[in-house]
Amino acid sequence: MVEPSIVEDLALLVVSLRRHLEQRQRAGMHFLPCPGTAKTIASKNDQRNVMSGTEVDLFSDSKAAHEAANLDELRAAIGDCRRCKLWSGRTHLVFGVGNPRARLMFIGEGPGRDEDLQGEPFVGRAGQLLTDIITKGMGLKREDVYIANVVKCRPPENRNPEPDEVSSCEPFLKRQIDLVRPEIIVALGKFAVQTLLQSKIPITRLRGKWHSYHGIRLMPTFHPAYLLRNPADKKLVWEDIKKVIKAMNGENGDSP
Ligand code: URA
Repeated sequence: MVEPSIVEDLALLVVSLRRHLEQRQRAGMHFLPCPGTAKTIASKNDQRNVMSGTEVDLFSDSKAAHEAANLDELRAAIGDCRRCKLWSGRTHLVFGVGNPRARLMFIGEGPGRDEDLQGEPFVGRAGQLLTDIITKGMGLKREDVYIANVVKCRPPENRNPEPDEVSSCEPFLKRQIDLVRPEIIVALGKFAVQTLLQSKIPITRLRGKWHSYHGIRLMPTFHPAYLLRNPADKKLVWEDIKKVIKAMNGENGDSP
């Protein structure tokens, strides 16, 4: 006779596992990294290091990311990442979400508490504002665009990511951008803007003007979390977003 409490525990486990798998699926991950099978899978793929969390990724982080042929492979290459110290505080690694062929990509700083819990970028209050910008402002669906962050794990107390954390995650963001190949990137907030543009110029001077990220048009604008604290600046973001809408409609605007 199985004890009722064990049955309840198992039922809870099944529910939370199902929720976890659904979150991964929504985040664009359609299979699970399985460290025990890394060698087998690697050999099946001509020794390409598509899995991680094992010795195969110790010396080949950039290579595995670079060789990923699609977002699923890239996610698998990242695996149960422990490349920087942020892994120890995370609930979920927040990879990215949206249309893998999106024309428009939004890039933020890093997951906050809600994103860490749900495994999806921009789902908290700032995320709701971003969703409003996409849906009400641009007339698009959240699923039409691609959303990612500079770092994929939540920094403690929402502090800025540190340089070693950014450089650990950088090959993955670069490959993610490369695979999505958006026409336009909207960089959200000082941190993402300055990181992507490798610039120390204040966001107040960078925003609203077109820049280039490896040949992709990049529009810097304020972070939605900043807008929650400074709602008067929403009109500036709207001006920036209008330039993005125009560019997407083929009206060139200012270069690049
Ligand atoms: N802020 C970010 O920069 N990214 C998120 O995903 C959420 C909040």
